[in-house]
Amino acid sequence: MTNAKKELLAIADSCVKCGICAPHCPTYTHTQNENESPRGRIALIQAWAGGNLNVTNNLLDHIDNCLLCRACEKACPAVVPYAKLIDDFRAEMHNEKAAPLSVKLLKTISENKRVQRWAKSSLKLYQKNNLQKTARFLHLPTLFGLGEIERLVPNYQESQPLQNYYPALNEVKGDVGLFVGCMGELLDSETVNAAISVLKHIGFNVYLPETQTCCGALALHEGDASTARSLAKQNNTAFANENLQAIITIASGCGSTLKDYAPNVVDISHFISQFEFNLKPLVANICVHSPCTLKNVLKTDKSVLKLLKQIPEANISSLPETQQCCGAAGSYSLRHDKMAQTLLNKLLETSLEKPTDYLVSSNIGCALHIAAGLRERGKDLTIIHPIVLLAKQLVN
Ligand code: SF4
Ligand code: SF4
Repeated sequence: MTNAKKELLAIADSCVKCGICAPHCPTYTHTQNENESPRGRIALIQAWAGGNLNVTNNLLDHIDNCLLCRACEKACPAVVPYAKLIDDFRAEMHNEKAAPLSVKLLKTISENKRVQRWAKSSLKLYQKNNLQKTARFLHLPTLFGLGEIERLVPNYQESQPLQNYYPALNEVKGDVGLFVGCMGELLDSETVNAAISVLKHIGFNVYLPETQTCCGALALHEGDASTARSLAKQNNTAFANENLQAIITIASGCGSTLKDYAPNVVDISHFISQFEFNLKPLVANICVHSPCTLKNVLKTDKSVLKLLKQIPEANISSLPETQQCCGAAGSYSLRHDKMAQTLLNKLLETSLEKPTDYLVSSNIGCALHIAAGLRERGKDLTIIHPIVLLAKQLVN
């Protein structure tokens, strides 16, 4: 037996098959199929690693259908490292199944800065002169196998190139690194700029090492372990500055991956929730969506509420604790549009139950997926990162 199989077996054997995780699992909730539950998937991997099950498309599909939302891991009394089991199994199976074109494109963009710059200018061109509207009308993205990724594309945001360093505006409290990730500069410069301005305002010198790169989550969850390792190495070198008090992340998906290999990784809302702000009042209903990575992995979802409650006159609520994954899950929605839509429907139903002006989310992947769902349903509801909302209300 190979070492990889031995390691998989050791993890799988730590599951006592109690089934406590099952009701927390979105794929089990919606299929009622044991093979689509955490316990079922563990048993499948256990059988394969023990030599009792061959690799079949069915086996690969059941493992592939997992969102890696890690709700099961949070609920598990035996602390089974479920995500590691799935990532390691997918690494063993890498290349067994070809990824769709949209996933390959997303992965290429995420791993290469030059391609990101090209993608940003292409996006600008695509949204000019009604090109996007025409392409959508003619269903061209779908014809070319890119419909699922195209629906996620937000409006182009004009932005200045980022600097490597931004000095504190007020009495200096220390130095922090800001991890912008592969999508921050490309699709969410509003959040990047808000994070820089709030951190400077508090009194932090903000470092954005130019050589930082994608956190590696996409590669890792696709089973491309060697790319994930090399991206991790590059980020560790980029942020190797012992003066940094923390490496701040603005997308919980990135934070949850980065924290496995870099020191002092903190989600921005958690980091700044220890400070008090002088904020303008905002008469609005604000509903907080907690991404799975913030709730189940970083476990700092309550800090977003604590932070936003500082905004005078704002009515802050959150989606119920029982709310499951929205279906975005990295590249998941590109591969599994049906399950992604089922989960999105459920989330939007709950979010739209009461009057809401802002839906707040701390992860760009979730925000893009939810925003696409709102657009497709003709709903006029702003989805926004908590730090952007806070920065808008900041009294200088
Ligand atoms: S809760 Fe943990 S131990 Fe119980 S079945 Fe699920 S993964 Fe296994
Ligand atoms: S990670 Fe999420 S989708 Fe996958 S088995 Fe666990 S609860 Fe289910």
